[in-house]
Amino acid sequence: MTETNWAGNLTYAASALRTPRTVDELAAIVAAEPHVRGLGSRHSFNRIADTTGVQVSVAGLPALVEVDDSAREVTVSAGLRYGELVEELDRAGWALHNLASLPHISVAGAIATGTHGSGDHNGSLASSVAGLELVTADGSLLTVRRGDPDFDGMVVSLGCLGIVTKVTLDIVPTFDVRQDVYEGVSWESIADHLDAITSSAYSVSMFTDWGDAGAGQAWLKSRADVTPPATFFGATPASRELHPLPDESAEFTTSQLGAPGVWWDRLPHFRLGFTPSNGQELQSEYLVPRFDAAAAIDAVRSLAPVIRPHLFVSELRTIAADSLWLSPSHGVDCLAIHFTWRMHVPEVTALLPALDDALAPFAARPHWGKVFQSDRERLGAAYPRIDEFRSLADRLDPTGTFANEQTSEWLGR
Ligand SMILES: Cc1cc2nc3c(=O)[nH]c(=O)nc-3n(C[C@H](O)[C@H](O)[C@H](O)COP(=O)(O)OP(=O)(O)OC[C@H]3O[C@@H](n4cnc5c(N)ncnc54)[C@H](O)[C@@H]3O)c2cc1C
Repeated sequence: MTETNWAGNLTYAASALRTPRTVDELAAIVAAEPHVRGLGSRHSFNRIADTTGVQVSVAGLPALVEVDDSAREVTVSAGLRYGELVEELDRAGWALHNLASLPHISVAGAIATGTHGSGDHNGSLASSVAGLELVTADGSLLTVRRGDPDFDGMVVSLGCLGIVTKVTLDIVPTFDVRQDVYEGVSWESIADHLDAITSSAYSVSMFTDWGDAGAGQAWLKSRADVTPPATFFGATPASRELHPLPDESAEFTTSQLGAPGVWWDRLPHFRLGFTPSNGQELQSEYLVPRFDAAAAIDAVRSLAPVIRPHLFVSELRTIAADSLWLSPSHGVDCLAIHFTWRMHVPEVTALLPALDDALAPFAARPHWGKVFQSDRERLGAAYPRIDEFRSLADRLDPTGTFANEQTSEWLGR
């Protein structure tokens, strides 16, 4: 099989990709195969979705978007991409609290890695999971709800606990958003006013190339009835729509210049139907506690000469704490420091240990779906409940059906 991930930096080692049409068919595959791995929309950059056995996509299971108005929940088929469920949800009068930078990713794949958007008060996408249905290693169907024992260990699962078939998500009343982009936030403003900057809108993202000028762009996503500031900590409003990457067309991005629009068409940066970001890229991201944000930014700035030749752009965002054991924002409000690298595979691979080392003093937690070097010892120090997760995986999957080379490197199982 010569299937690759979205970026094309990996060819999967899996012997086959199966797309069952029913849960019974899925259960039969899981029960029969020694090694199985869920595959989402392939947007991860490392081998987290790979296996030497069989990859399984749940995108062929019957599509489901079932709203429960009184419980304020929606249950969706796990293989749906966010962009495929948001309009139906909106038509029913509801919204998700947040979205990642792109709507192209599957719900199961996103929550398995702790994927997040931005906003001081917005937890990761996984934090809105209220329930899960999954096929476990013996082929049986397991349903869990928030509050059940071990639930907090089961959402950000790295794909290690079973094949997720349905996800129940918290919903909020639908809302309109405006997006305003400012150019020219200086490093001095970031150092002096970081909390004020990140709390100034529903969601704030800053994009930088780590040059001396500071953050090139600040993207503010606000409720549509909020009047944005005339200037933003010394930065001025962009006079035209922008792409976060300097050489890309703004046609690929969601609407800016303050035009109000529905939540799902403003919360992501990139539009479904267009290539998000660049496409010829790698990505890394590290989440550090908010109280260490300024020091962590300084640590990365000290590596600017090493980083910049291989970088398209970096993004700085905040994420609210959650209780999920393997969530990179577990237990602490975080700043996420993201890197969109050029497809310079050997050079990026060579510089990652220096980046990992620079951020290790802050117990930085790398994004599970992106490239990083942190080893088992460092991950163990960063995740206080990683041993409990390992025990949970041992119990639900005693023969390691869902383990793979990547997760055994990280978790030792
Ligand atoms: C252009 C781009 C922009 C991005 N922007 C963001 C961003 O804004 N924020 C952010 O946090 N991340 C971002 N990411 C990273 C991305 O969100 C994560 O890598 C995410 O996990 C990808 O989801 P996927 O559906 O492609 O899953 P895959 O990459 O296919 O799989 C990811 C994991 O999910 C597991 N999995 C998939 N389906 C199932 C299932 N049914 N049951 C059990 N396990 C399953 C896989 O085994 C694997 O462990 C971005 C990536 C790209 C390429």
